[in-house]
Amino acid sequence: MKPLVLSPNSLSYLTCPRKFMNYRILGRRLAGARAGADAGNILHSAWAAWNRGDTTLRRTIGRVHVGSIGTTEQICDAIIEAERASLPLERADDHRTAAYLKDAFAALRAELEPRRGTWRVLEVERRLTRRIGEVKAEVYDGTTITHMVHGNWLQRLEAKAGDCDMDGVAIVPIHLELVRDLVIEIIATGERWVVDLKTSAWDDEAKPRAWAVGDQGKCYTWAWNDEFANKPVAGAQFIRLVMRKPVQKPTAKTKPTFEPQVLPPFRYTPAILEEWRKSVLTRAADILRRDPENPDDWPMQACDSNCIQFNKPCDYLGACEMDPDQRAYFLAQDFFEPSGAGKEPLTVEEAV
Ligand code: SF4
Repeated sequence: MKPLVLSPNSLSYLTCPRKFMNYRILGRRLAGARAGADAGNILHSAWAAWNRGDTTLRRTIGRVHVGSIGTTEQICDAIIEAERASLPLERADDHRTAAYLKDAFAALRAELEPRRGTWRVLEVERRLTRRIGEVKAEVYDGTTITHMVHGNWLQRLEAKAGDCDMDGVAIVPIHLELVRDLVIEIIATGERWVVDLKTSAWDDEAKPRAWAVGDQGKCYTWAWNDEFANKPVAGAQFIRLVMRKPVQKPTAKTKPTFEPQVLPPFRYTPAILEEWRKSVLTRAADILRRDPENPDDWPMQACDSNCIQFNKPCDYLGACEMDPDQRAYFLAQDFFEPSGAGKEPLTVEEAV
């Protein structure tokens, strides 16, 4: 039986099953520039190069082959320049230009440079897939268990002869796919930590607590400890880079445009990680329980915290306001695009 591959992002689907259906099952997302998310991705590329200490750059960014040799800082700036040029800005006057992002990254480097000598880098930006368990799933139309978009690939789980028991129930392996930013070892203590960079336009105090209990830190920690049981990581440390819109006339009360924050690390005990692992399987079973062809199985969980996020309406608010009969037509229009557009292809063994 082929595995169901999930990412930490896809696990948050329960906040609104209809959103999950629109994005993962129907495979539609709002088209166009998304400068905030793009800025975060661009800075992640530069951060990985900085953590590796790259002094050469050979990469195809967009459709342009970029080659460069220089100091790590120059390479990071070249990555930011090339990646920003390959993507549109949200508006012509958007402040998240290459120059802005280079300044943001310089602020992050300045914060981290003094700490850098206190740790040893064990891993940088590694993409991996790990089997986390298996769940029972019913076949809903003779052969199909589910289909959903993962990355830029439509995964279709079909039960073959021998996959199901007498009641039409199959055992489906569940795999997690993740990209882990950084794993370090603190030289003085020997403790190991997963490190994750978060970019944001706000510095609200509650968010780091939400990150601590969220899927990403636990996923990265669990996957490392499952693979390297003899040298486990203690938990996750988040580094937040707050990137505010520049103020034309700053006052004494104006906060700095860039504010890197190294947040206290969070320890995950084995009991916390096992609780999380079981929660992943419960959620995977829930995804597989829902018929991908039946919208009624993916109810709208409409509330202000779901339908408005980061001060913006959900991409699907217009669709949810419509008569049910109109929604598929609406999502098929050009102002929506395939939700896998522009994403990296999966590795060959996952895409079989
Ligand atoms: S608008 Fe609200 S109900 Fe509709 S998909 Fe988005 S979060 Fe769900």
